[in-house]
Amino acid sequence: MIIVLKPHAPQDKVRAFCRELEAMGLQINDSVGSDTHILGLIGDTKAVAISWVMANPVVESCRRVSEPYKKANRKFHPEDTVVELGGKVRIGGGHFAVMAGPCSVESEEQITLVARRVQAAGASVLRGGAFKPRTSPYSFQGLRAEGLALLRKARAVTGQPLVTELMNNEHIPLFLEAGVDMIQIGARNMQNFELLKAVGQLDVPVLLKRGLSSTLEELVMSAEYIMAEGNPNVVLCERGIRTFETSMRNTLDLAAVPMLKKMTHLPVVVDPSHASGLAFMVPSLAQAAVAAGADGLMIEVHNDPARALSDGAQSLTPDQFDALMATVKPELGFFGKELN
Ligand code: PEP
Ligand code: MN
Repeated sequence: MIIVLKPHAPQDKVRAFCRELEAMGLQINDSVGSDTHILGLIGDTKAVAISWVMANPVVESCRRVSEPYKKANRKFHPEDTVVELGGKVRIGGGHFAVMAGPCSVESEEQITLVARRVQAAGASVLRGGAFKPRTSPYSFQGLRAEGLALLRKARAVTGQPLVTELMNNEHIPLFLEAGVDMIQIGARNMQNFELLKAVGQLDVPVLLKRGLSSTLEELVMSAEYIMAEGNPNVVLCERGIRTFETSMRNTLDLAAVPMLKKMTHLPVVVDPSHASGLAFMVPSLAQAAVAAGADGLMIEVHNDPARALSDGAQSLTPDQFDALMATVKPELGFFGKELN
C-alpha cells in the first residue's frame, strides 16, 4: 500500500501515524521528496482499510498495490484448484462439469424425468431450486423442504451430485440433513456476508454466483469470505450482469472468465440461462463459454418450459439440451478439457 501524505503535515502527527502502522506489524519505507512525502507499507496490508487510512488528517491519498484477497489469489496459489463433488465429479484443472436441471423443483415426476434426461445427455450434476429467490413475493417461492426431499429422490435414481440454493443460515441443518453435495449462493446473496461466513464453516463445496451489479473483485472478495472461514472448495459462477441493454435479461460477461482465472485459482462456471433469459441463445452462449475457458456450465432444463413455475422462457427442453451437449462435447475435446 502506498500512502501520500499532505504537504506540510505536522511532523508529530506523521510520527504518531507511523507508530500506529508499525504497531500493526507493518514496515514503512519512508520516502521524502522535495514536495512529496510517501509511505510505502511493507507486509500484509489486507486488514488495513483504505477508509481508515484516508480518515487520518495527514493523508492526501492512498492506493493498494496488491490485491485485498489472499486465499483466492492466484499469485499465492498458482495451480488451478480442483473442486470435487459427491466423491466423483471434479471441476477445474482441466475437468469440466455440466450442471443441469430445472430452475425450480416442482414435483417428483418432473425432477426425476429431467434428472434422467440431463444425465443421459452428459450432465454430471443435477441442479434444482427448492428455496427460490423471486423478485415478487407473489411468485412461486419453491417447494422448500419438500423440494430438498424430491432432489434426494432424484439423486437416488441417477446418483448425480446435487447443487441447490441456500438463502438463509437457518436452513443449513436442513441442507446438511439432505446431504446436499454443493450449496449454491445465488446472485442476490453474493454479499450476504453472514451467509458467506456460515457456508465457510461447512465441509460442503460452494457455487458462488456473481451479483447482478458486482465487480469481479467484489465476487472474489465474497469467495475470500468463504475461504477465510476454512472452506477452500469454492466455484465461481458468471451468470450475467445488469447493463443498459434491455433485449436480454442480463448481459453475459464472458470476459469475466479469463479475468477471474487470472485473478484466482478457483474454477469458473458459466450460466448462460440466467445471463440471457432466452432459451434460443443458450446453446451458442454455452459454446462461447467453453471457448472462453470456463470449467463448467449451469443450464436450466425443464420437461415442459411453457408450464414451468419459474424461468420457463430460458429453459431448454431435454431434446434441446441433447443438441447443446452434442455441440459442446467435441468442443471440449478441441480445447483439451475432460467432461466428467
Ligand atoms: C438460479 O440458479 O435459479 C438462480 C436464481 O440464479 P441467480 O442467483 O444467478 O439469479
Ligand atoms: Mn432460474
